[in-house]
Amino acid sequence: PDDAPALRVEELDVTYGRALSALRSVSLTVPHGDVVALLGANGAGKTTLLRAVSGTLRLHRGAITAGRVRYGDTVLDGRDPVAAVRAGIVQVPEGRRIFAGLTVEENLRAGRLGLPRRAPAQARQARDRVLALFPRLAERARRPAGLLSGGEQQMLAIGRALMVAPRLLLLDEPSLGLAPMMVRRIGEVIDEINAQGTAVLLVEQNAGLALSLADHAHVLEVGEVRLSGPAAELARTDAVRRLYLGGS
Ligand code: ATP
Repeated sequence: PDDAPALRVEELDVTYGRALSALRSVSLTVPHGDVVALLGANGAGKTTLLRAVSGTLRLHRGAITAGRVRYGDTVLDGRDPVAAVRAGIVQVPEGRRIFAGLTVEENLRAGRLGLPRRAPAQARQARDRVLALFPRLAERARRPAGLLSGGEQQMLAIGRALMVAPRLLLLDEPSLGLAPMMVRRIGEVIDEINAQGTAVLLVEQNAGLALSLADHAHVLEVGEVRLSGPAAELARTDAVRRLYLGGS
């Protein structure tokens, strides 16, 4: 929706345990309606940033030690996933984490666990939207999710997150381990979700995919933002081409 707020990460420091500094003075903004990509090598801190926004940092023994995360007027402290969902933010974790023994339908319903039961109209609307976006899931609604292909499981993980009708979707490596055709399909889906008014903060190893989808992008290196800019511009810089796009 047009009135959705922007996400602002301001000079954020995150530490795991006592000593391990994972992010240092990281600042970035996700304007409402935009797709913003986060690039960087393994261990650069991309997942950590998503956790700080989605309130799942504490589950991993991490904490914000300086700076702020704001979504509109709401301050998010990295410790409260329910507060993040209430604010309209939800994260799709890396590795999908669907419930293999539950059916597709049950997995989608699980996306709304913890929300007030008295909102059947919203629940139905969210479900209809998800099934329209992923007709494949509608066909397989009664199947155990563990029998889906990797690509379908990723669709299900995204669909489950969309069950709360987020205004900001955090995606961690959605294309990881998928065949090229499925990677393209994931790209289309992200475009479509964004066109429906949901902002996306996208962590991707596949820099080509990420930069083709994003408005803006940031490159993280060992916990710090090294490069930021419009995605099309970053895709043309030598460092990004060499390190992330396989160019020379
Ligand atoms: P990847 O793609 O491998 O997930 P990333 O860019 O997402 O890389 P993070 O997972 O955010 O990077 O990791 C940033 C740093 O924090 C790394 O040094 C990592 O080892 C460390 N780290 C991540 N999670 C924890 C944790 N639960 N406890 C301690 N250190 C952690």
